[in-house]
Amino acid sequence: MKKLFNFATLILCILGLSSTSLVANAEEISSNYDSLTAEGQLITEEQEATLADFQEALPKARTFARSGNKYLIVLGHGDNELGAQGNGTNEKDFTRNELLPYLRKYAEISNAQIDFYDPNKNMYTESQKKAGAFTVSTSYQSVTELHLDGSIGDETGGHVIVAPGTNNPQDYAIANTLKEYVGWNPKYAGNQGLNYRTDLYNLQIFKDRGIPYRLVEIGFISNAKDLAAIRNNLDGIAKRIIEGITGEKINHTTLTLCNLETFAENNGQIQLKGWYFSEANTLQQQRWLVLIDSATGQEVQRVAVKNQARADVGALYPQYPTAHWSGFEASFPMNEKFYNKNLQVKIGYEANLQSAVTFGQQLTIGGTNNPIYRVYNPNNGEHFYTKSQGEAQNLVANGWQDEGVSWHAPNAGSEVYRLYNPNSGEHHYTLNTNERDSLVGSGWQYEAVSWYSADSKKTSDLSLV
Ligand SMILES: [Zn+2]
Repeated sequence: MKKLFNFATLILCILGLSSTSLVANAEEISSNYDSLTAEGQLITEEQEATLADFQEALPKARTFARSGNKYLIVLGHGDNELGAQGNGTNEKDFTRNELLPYLRKYAEISNAQIDFYDPNKNMYTESQKKAGAFTVSTSYQSVTELHLDGSIGDETGGHVIVAPGTNNPQDYAIANTLKEYVGWNPKYAGNQGLNYRTDLYNLQIFKDRGIPYRLVEIGFISNAKDLAAIRNNLDGIAKRIIEGITGEKINHTTLTLCNLETFAENNGQIQLKGWYFSEANTLQQQRWLVLIDSATGQEVQRVAVKNQARADVGALYPQYPTAHWSGFEASFPMNEKFYNKNLQVKIGYEANLQSAVTFGQQLTIGGTNNPIYRVYNPNNGEHFYTKSQGEAQNLVANGWQDEGVSWHAPNAGSEVYRLYNPNSGEHHYTLNTNERDSLVGSGWQYEAVSWYSADSKKTSDLSLV
């Protein structure tokens, strides 16, 4: 049974709302939705539209028709029993806290119904009380119990335990997944990663009840290399286990969720803050934030930023482990490339921005109406800057050299003060009012606000001229 299914890339991002947080929206939505179903409260048209968008994108992954096939996954040990321990963790915690979220993610988008045996319970001890394996419904097509091995030595590799004569293609598919990610336990490599046993309680109960059952030892928790290989491939291992169990090829495309919460000019910088995650990029440690010119779509400047923790987003989307690390924050020092443009933000994991998302918000940066002219005095070596073309031309007529437009200053920003030293004939430019006043105190003449600066660096360079 090979099922193939696809669904289109789902991108649910708030792409046009300034300073509106999807987190807040989604919380509102879900609380409104709760009260709607609980109390029959009416929602506004606007809420309804947002709700429709929200529902269209997310729950699709949860509610499309299932094939009717049912499978059960059991996490080994549990309750008060930790199982094998090693490298700072144990079977109970590792399977439940680290592996389970990824299993749930793929279970959710599987075409089959995949249930999880209550993670708060220990199936083995439940079976001893005549519950557990004894009470699992016979409507399940298989039961897969997940464990990690432990040993004192440096044993390595995974294997799949089945009752003799019950081995099936799904067992081999899972064994091959272990081979690919962790390697096989050498003891069972000659048997394609399978180990036949009759001495395990749950295994025997399921065999007697006619429910196909396997116990998967993913690798050795006591072996740091095995554990690292598993940790680094949780997404792939979980996907392949689900595929192995159901016989599906999960060819789903990516759900992308994001929100740009801050996009503003502040203190000479363009500041960005928000969150973004895409299922396809579980292991990426960073993403690209790119400012683009909205008129041309051309890149203006980019920065690579590390993923930041966002517990609030993680809480909203618990089935997507990457949501917990979806935060981003960056600032771009203001520079001439931004002037007189409507900027937009693009975010993506690949440097070529292949599947990047562009947020709808625009930020207008003014500036190109204020050319700053530069002239040079060959007698004292001074470069003089002015936004007045007339002043520059006057000086050129008096023997200064015309050096053209030096840059374009913004329409607003920090005031740059110009001072003149009547003794040396030298000019000085500063953003600093204290410096301005102290120079005036020592005989300089304050002339004017020369221009505005969004770039404190450029001005401090100039003050050294
Ligand atoms: Zn175990």
